[in-house]
Amino acid sequence: MTLKKIDSLAIASLAIGCVLLILGFALSNWYAPIVTLLAAAALFLFWTKFAAPIAQNVSASANRSSKEPNETSFTPTRSKVTFKQVAGLNSAREELDEIVDYFKNPSKYGRFGVVLPRGVLLAGPPGVGKTLMAKAIAGEAGVAFFYASGSSFAHLYVGVGPKKVAELFAAARKSAPSIVFIDEIDAVGKARGGARSDERENTLNQLLTEMDGFESQSGVVVLAATNRIELLDSALLRPGRFDRRVEIGLPNINDRLEILKIAFSGKPHSIDLNRLAQNSTGFSGAALSTLANEAALHALKRNAEKIEQIDIEAIKEKVISLKKSGEWLEADMREKRARYQAAKAIAAKRLGSRFETVKLANDFLQDHESVLSESELFALLCARLAGFALWRSNAESGASFCESDAALARKIAERYIAIYDPTELKGGAEKLMQEAIMAAGDNLDSAAIEKIAALLLANESAAFEVL
Ligand code: ADP
Repeated sequence: MTLKKIDSLAIASLAIGCVLLILGFALSNWYAPIVTLLAAAALFLFWTKFAAPIAQNVSASANRSSKEPNETSFTPTRSKVTFKQVAGLNSAREELDEIVDYFKNPSKYGRFGVVLPRGVLLAGPPGVGKTLMAKAIAGEAGVAFFYASGSSFAHLYVGVGPKKVAELFAAARKSAPSIVFIDEIDAVGKARGGARSDERENTLNQLLTEMDGFESQSGVVVLAATNRIELLDSALLRPGRFDRRVEIGLPNINDRLEILKIAFSGKPHSIDLNRLAQNSTGFSGAALSTLANEAALHALKRNAEKIEQIDIEAIKEKVISLKKSGEWLEADMREKRARYQAAKAIAAKRLGSRFETVKLANDFLQDHESVLSESELFALLCARLAGFALWRSNAESGASFCESDAALARKIAERYIAIYDPTELKGGAEKLMQEAIMAAGDNLDSAAIEKIAALLLANESAAFEVL
């Protein structure tokens, strides 16, 4: 019960008790003792029903908060994961190999006075293997592994978050050499300011203090994972803290094949893993491993000897919605999508709209918050509609990705009209979109489209410079 919950009965019994008590003392006639007695009864009622339970609750929660950190005190584990269990992620691995080597040969690094990064931030979408990679580093290096989730530091009780952070680092130092892995660090490391939360700020400050207090030779390396790097407080990213960042993206087609080989190893199956890797564009490693598991469960349910393609067909949509990632593209749709994306990329490049890489699955044309010039905005609109223009010229039918581009194009066209041609407001966007489709159609170059489409089918992405 909280103070807010003291209802009218409590207030009434307290008020009546007080008034009767004063009356009892003020009166000097024969019924004064009876009034005092009634006052005592009202106050007794207030104490037993309301005040005592509150007092009990307060002391219980105080006890709980002082016990909480001990209840969840951090114990190290020995990770058995090795790099063999991590498929793909080769560039991440190259960056992280050094840490394994440092733990295995500390004297080598000491001799040259090399200072290792204290903190490495693994940034990437959920399910791409950040935790798996952290465990593999600890497993390969043979050092103690401490796991903590950022959200476990977010506490109701004041002071518990910072205390837990201090405990984690004390335990890691005691077990050094060791690796501390903080998953979802954004839960505690969000930029300060905005909606204030003193407890979170204190927890973040404690984390910063702990990282600053490290000796470079302490033998503790902190790894942290986030999929919202843009939310992190800049203090966390300063030198001496998480000053090394390793980006881990969604697996490409080759990586997906390797992940599938691991996920299906030990499972009897007749699945064409190459085809499965092709069809599962945009699937994360976690989604692929769930796909293998769900397919196995489905095969078991129908008493089959092994996992077959029908099991995959039966569960693929469920996995996509469960993992909120990926898209199923059969071979013909994959080719269609590759040409569609290639047309957009070529139009963008020719008309002067910059992007980093064109991807088979994802949208790669960035709409800008800032106001673009008239020609830049029109170029962006043309690029958005270039895939549509290609289909129109080939009399091909649409697909869902065409629909989403059309919706985005409409927004750009409306913005263009509002800024540069406000007299055309009524029906102006439609007219402009038609013009853009014509202009994009003029820039279609089938040889170039086929070349880029082939690249996209092989690698699922192509850099702006390659085009
Ligand atoms: P994250 O930490 O990025 O959210 P996890 O490391 O927790 O992702 O991945 C969840 C599971 O997905 C792993 O335990 C593993 O089964 C599978 N997985 C993800 N990425 C890979 C990968 N690159 N190689 C092999 N398995 C992977």
